[in-house]
Amino acid sequence: MRYEAPSTIDRAVALIAGEPGEARVLAGGTDLLVQLRTDLIDPVLLVDIKGIPELREIKEEGGGFRIGAAVTGAELKEHPKLKSAWPGLVESANLIGSTQVQGRATMGGNLCNGSPAADSVPGLIAAGAKASIVGPRGRRDLPVEDVMLAPRRLALEKGEIVASFLLPARPARTSDAYLRFIPRTEMDIAVVGCGVCLTIDAGGTCTAARVSLGAVAPRPLLVADAARALIGTKVDAPALERLDAAARAACQPIDDKRGTKEYRIKVAGVLARRTAQIALERARKA
Ligand SMILES: Cc1cc2nc3c(=O)[nH]c(=O)nc-3n(C[C@H](O)[C@H](O)[C@H](O)COP(=O)(O)OP(=O)(O)OC[C@H]3O[C@@H](n4cnc5c(N)ncnc54)[C@H](O)[C@@H]3O)c2cc1C
Repeated sequence: MRYEAPSTIDRAVALIAGEPGEARVLAGGTDLLVQLRTDLIDPVLLVDIKGIPELREIKEEGGGFRIGAAVTGAELKEHPKLKSAWPGLVESANLIGSTQVQGRATMGGNLCNGSPAADSVPGLIAAGAKASIVGPRGRRDLPVEDVMLAPRRLALEKGEIVASFLLPARPARTSDAYLRFIPRTEMDIAVVGCGVCLTIDAGGTCTAARVSLGAVAPRPLLVADAARALIGTKVDAPALERLDAAARAACQPIDDKRGTKEYRIKVAGVLARRTAQIALERARKA
């Protein structure tokens, strides 16, 4: 197996696109190295992207933020402005694994590993993030909810790399939250994860919302009906009831050792309510 550590994204793309065998991006390695060790994958080329400056930075852009794909959850937490603008997204990345894992695990790796239970993905989707993708045919942007198609299957072509995520400018009285439910207190993946971002007007009526669910379908979902349950309301009890129902209706979960289908569906409704209430409290203060 060959290992390359280019210093530009164009070189990384050229290396992967030019390799006729299986080539993989190596970011934090917290998924990839486990898959290598267990013989799940057997690439001939690993392209380490951590030495590419563009992929390692968080910068303000257009009133929002651009987060490099090789930025880790721990680095997000250490960025006070980002943390105060998008607390839900930052907490979603900081639920990943342990302190040690968070120091390695990148935002791009969490998305591109293609797990429906990836924690930061509903956070990105709720925030309305767009993935900036670089490939042999140039750059393109894709809403994060359109990047993952199914478990381990992405809308990326050969040689394409996720370079960064663009978070839009956050309107006034807008905030986000992320909650997940796991069977144990530490180090397990989500039974359900939920990200909510909402905006309220001066009178407290919700004027915009995005609701995303993870681990309840073959890919993380943007649930438009759940957002519609909140918009135009004071996020009161009847609205939360409708949100709960819309979240449950969107689920197409699997049964596994972490929970049955019925259990996941019920938890999705409960988590959606709780996450929306946290986002609302934050939006009132934002
Ligand atoms: C002990 C432990 C606990 C964990 N707990 C959690 C958890 O609670 N929640 C959770 O969501 N995950 C968890 N994970 C999984 C993992 O840590 C995350 O998915 C992490 O974000 C992966 O990022 P990485 O940088 O390590 O990716 P890598 O392992 O380097 O890469 C993962 C995959 O994405 C591809 N890739 C990486 N970056 C890019 C890019 N920019 N463009 C295109 N392809 C790319 C790689 O080729 C590879 O296929 C855990 C893992 C471990 C080992």
